[in-house]
Amino acid sequence: DYALLGDKIVPKKEISVSLEDRGYQFGDGVYEVIRVYGGVIFHLEAHLGRLDDSAKAIYIDLPCSLRKLGELLGELVKRNGIVDGKLYLQLTRGVHPRVHFIPEGIKPILTGYAEHVARPLTSLREGISALTVEDNRWLRVNIKSLNLLPNILAKHRAKSQGADEAIFVRDGLVTEGSASNVYGIRDGVVYTHPANHLILNGITRQAIVRLSEELGIPWREVPISAEELARMDEVFVSNTILEICPVVSVDGRTIGDGKIGSVTASLQAAFEREIESAAGG
Ligand code: PMP
Repeated sequence: DYALLGDKIVPKKEISVSLEDRGYQFGDGVYEVIRVYGGVIFHLEAHLGRLDDSAKAIYIDLPCSLRKLGELLGELVKRNGIVDGKLYLQLTRGVHPRVHFIPEGIKPILTGYAEHVARPLTSLREGISALTVEDNRWLRVNIKSLNLLPNILAKHRAKSQGADEAIFVRDGLVTEGSASNVYGIRDGVVYTHPANHLILNGITRQAIVRLSEELGIPWREVPISAEELARMDEVFVSNTILEICPVVSVDGRTIGDGKIGSVTASLQAAFEREIESAAGG
């Protein structure tokens, strides 16, 4: 197995983390999760662009150009023989004796690895369940930072009540999932939270917005309440791994007839075509 360290591909077992890495001590860093289909990196530029935005937002410099990073990731996929899988990339501020301020002159640490991940075919077909939880995260979740404790606790709460995903609600309004964006469909219109500081603007979300426009599906970037969500005709969540995944129950209430809705299905089909064309048919 090979992994990425800085601007080099090295055997995975050669990489170790310092006790004083600020990512390890403070969560002082950012990350990306990128999909690989048929050996091809999916939506690579969009992910690298978001990594760059996240890094800039917390004043960390990438150790190499985005172009070079893209090439390195391609090599990582190839050297590990990944067909369908994912890349995990993490950029931390670097190693320094523990202080709260941002030390000057330290070298950021970029690491990454690739692994095999099958497509979630059962969830895509049958849907998942969700539980609403209070969104108690900070107000800059548009930055893909390593600080995921609220997301982890929300997911734990959902799991412990038998639900697959947690849906965050802030001041009565649905923001996003613990690791996904959330959409409701009523009378053929797709509703999702605006891409501001209260959600992570998913790369999958951006694709869905584009595909909706291509398919002539009207969509509105307006927040909906938790109560409205449960009464939608269709609900789905999206992320890099789950793709476009129907939600068939929210807080134990069945959505629509408990099956994939027609708008969700047509977005899934369009997304599938995008995957197939990226992966070379
Ligand atoms: N929101 C949150 C909180 C997430 O963790 C994720 C997954 N990274 C997303 C949305 C979806 O983003 P993407 O489509 O880029 O995977």
